[in-house]
Formats: sequence, structure tokens, C-alpha cells
Amino acid sequence: MIDFSLTEEQKACQKLVREFAQNEIVPVAPELDEEQRHSPELVEKYFELGLLHYLVPEKYGGPELGSIEGCILGEELAAACGGVAATFGQNSLGLTPFLIAGSPELKEELLPKHTSGPNLSGFCLTEAGAGSDVSGIRSTARREGDEFVINGTKQFITNGGVASLYSVFASEDPELKHKGLSAFMVPADSPGVSTGKKENKLGQRATDTREVIFDNVHIPAHYRLGEGFDGFKIAMMTLDHSRAGVGASAVGVARAALEAATAYAKERVQFGKPIAALQAVQLMLADMAIKVNAARWLCWHAAWLTDNGKPNSKESAMAKCFAGDTAMQVTTDAVQVFGGYGYMKDYPVEKYMRDAKLYQIYEGTNQIQRLVIAGQLIR
Ligand SMILES: Cc1cc2nc3c(=O)[nH]c(=O)nc-3n(C[C@H](O)[C@H](O)[C@H](O)COP(=O)(O)OP(=O)(O)OC[C@H]3O[C@@H](n4cnc5c(N)ncnc54)[C@H](O)[C@@H]3O)c2cc1C
Repeated sequence: MIDFSLTEEQKACQKLVREFAQNEIVPVAPELDEEQRHSPELVEKYFELGLLHYLVPEKYGGPELGSIEGCILGEELAAACGGVAATFGQNSLGLTPFLIAGSPELKEELLPKHTSGPNLSGFCLTEAGAGSDVSGIRSTARREGDEFVINGTKQFITNGGVASLYSVFASEDPELKHKGLSAFMVPADSPGVSTGKKENKLGQRATDTREVIFDNVHIPAHYRLGEGFDGFKIAMMTLDHSRAGVGASAVGVARAALEAATAYAKERVQFGKPIAALQAVQLMLADMAIKVNAARWLCWHAAWLTDNGKPNSKESAMAKCFAGDTAMQVTTDAVQVFGGYGYMKDYPVEKYMRDAKLYQIYEGTNQIQRLVIAGQLIR
């Protein structure tokens, strides 16, 4: 049977996070954006709500929610601020390789400490020469007795300067390209870990995006995830898990833009009547609403596949790609509905448009999503 309704628990989760987002995030979002400032206060409050570590199993201190709940959280948070949503969401992205491939002993060792407080994690895949093409990763992991020694510089890392735990992808044999990659958990306070330049960004400015530098960082050998030489697979499995949630955040920004444009169109009078009475404006609003709904269902379907242990590479790529493109189109149209006022910082829609752009870029650009989809179609 097909059932499009949320469970009572999911509805309660949605209500809880919507109230939090509207009451706590919306009032400070313009200031965080303007000052390009990460807010530890919001992280603390979200932690108190019990949702910061939502994916982590109960036995390691989390509430063990699923991907559908992740979509609900992502949409509500991003409808308030794309940057704050990314800060919280990237904690789950950084932990996902660990949840997928970490040993029970390592989870027991690191996760309860992480989930006991308002701690964030970061996902360290990208490097200056390795964006879409992760086979270009130059970071290395050298085995020395009971340890690995990690060297390299990661770029554009969300939560880079504020995370306490990183998942890091480095090569054990650069000759093997992507087949030489392994994944590791690295505590941020390990000697040799430092952070570089904070990026000055177009949108999602409430996130801390930085270089993370690993200079002869010694970690215990059992901090490697999986069997070793399976880092590429772990990274791809992680992204299959996370893309529905990223798409849902894009839906949140698009929904907020649609709501703002609809309200404005009913108020703004030109030619003696509200612009909402003009069919040209109505058609724009209708197209925006169609795209927001379609994007949400693609995300929830991809999340449902994840939660039910079914293959979802193609569907999660579709969800992220369509939702990212939707966010860009809908926010651009929202600025258009606002006319000149939409271009001004006095109204929220220019921020939505800036925040939306990133959904077409991170977690694999939308060109790469299309390659993933096509690869599945023609294989
Ligand atoms: C604000 C921000 C936060 C980020 N956070 C993180 C993070 O937390 N962790 C992390 O690891 N990374 C993070 N990233 C990195 C992000 O995932 C990469 O920027 C992205 O994967 C693209 O890589 P690139 O920037 O090197 O672009 P490139 O790979 O150089 O791509 C440039 C252009 O070429 C296109 N292109 C490349 N290859 C192909 C192809 N084969 N076919 C068609 N088109 C192609 C791309 O689509 C793009 O349009 C973040 C990036 C940003 C901007």
C-alpha cells in the first residue's frame, strides 16, 4: 500500500522543529548572515531539543531517527536559515561514514562522548585538486605500527573550525587512485590538526566553512573505518544516505521563498489591485508550488528507500538534483515577484536566493548527480 501521511511521531517531530526554527532561528538569521557568524548558542539549544544527533542509535546516546525524519528536520530548519540547517545537517554527514562502517568498539569509544554535548562533526572529502573527482585526493594515511599517520589539507569543510570530530578520506596508496582511499575518524584535538582560512561565502553564511589541515596526525589504527582501501565505497554510501536530506533542505528554502512571495503578492498593489490578482503572477506562484511539492516527494521517496534498506543511488541523486534546481528557480522567481524590493536586504528573498545556490554545488554538483542517474540508467 502507498501511504503519503506522516506518523503521529513524525508529525510531533515536525511541529517541534518548526516551532524551534521559527522562534529561535528566524529572528537571528539575518544577523548571522550579515556577520557571517556560526552560532554556538543555536547548536546548544538544538542539542537541548534532542535532535542534533538524530541519526545516532540510542545505545550510543542518540534518538535513532531515520532519513524521513532527517528530511522533516532539514526542510523546517532550512526554511528558517539554510546556513544553520547546514551546520546541524553536516554533523550527521560527518557521522554517517562512522555509522555505516565503524566497528562497535570504536562507536562505543567515540560516540557517547560526541552525543553527550552540543558537539559537531565535519566530513572531510574535498581537496583543492579533488572536488568532483575524488580520485585526485592527495591526503595520505601511512601505517606505523599500531597507528596511522594522516597528512593533507581538506578544503571547503562545513563546520571545519567548529567540529570536534572529523571523518577523513585519505589514500593508503596514491598509485591506486580512488581504490587506495580509506576512511578514518579523527578527533579535532589530535596533535597536528589545525584549521585554515575561513571562506567568505555568497550564501549559507551562518556555517563555518574552512580548510582543515592534517600535519603528521597520529591516530590509533582502529580509528580506520571498514576494512581499509574501501574509502571510496564508504564515501559514496554516505552520500547516497545524505542526499535526500540535502534535497529536503533545498525544499525548505524554496518553500520559505514561495510563502514569502505569496504573502507579498497579496499585499503589493499595482494598477489598482494586488499583484496576486494578475494571472502572470498567479502562474509563477503555481509553477513554484508544483516544483516545491514535486521536490519534497522525490526527497521523501529517496529517504523511504534508505530507511527500508533498499538501493537508492539513483533516487537520492534525483532528489538532490531536482530539489537543488527547484530551490534556485523558486527563489529566483520569488525575487521577481517582489520586484525591486526583492533585491534589497530589507526583505528575506535575496538571502533565500543566495542560500539556494549552494544546493546545486555541494554533496556533488548537480552535473555529477545527472551523471550518477545516467550511469544507473545505462549500466
Ligand atoms: C560552501 C561549501 C561547503 C562545502 N562543504 C563540504 C564539506 O563539508 N565536505 C566536503 O568534503 N566538501 C565540501 N564542499 C565541497 C563540494 O562538495 C565541492 O565544491 C563540489 O563537490 C564540487 O567540487 P569543486 O568545487 O572542486 O568543483 P569541480 O569539480 O572543479 O567542478 C567545476 C565544474 O565542473 C563541473 N564538472 C566537473 N566534473 C564534471 C563531469 N565529469 N561532468 C560534467 N561536469 C563536471 C562541475 O559540475 C562544476 O560545474 C563544500 C563546498 C562549498 C562551496
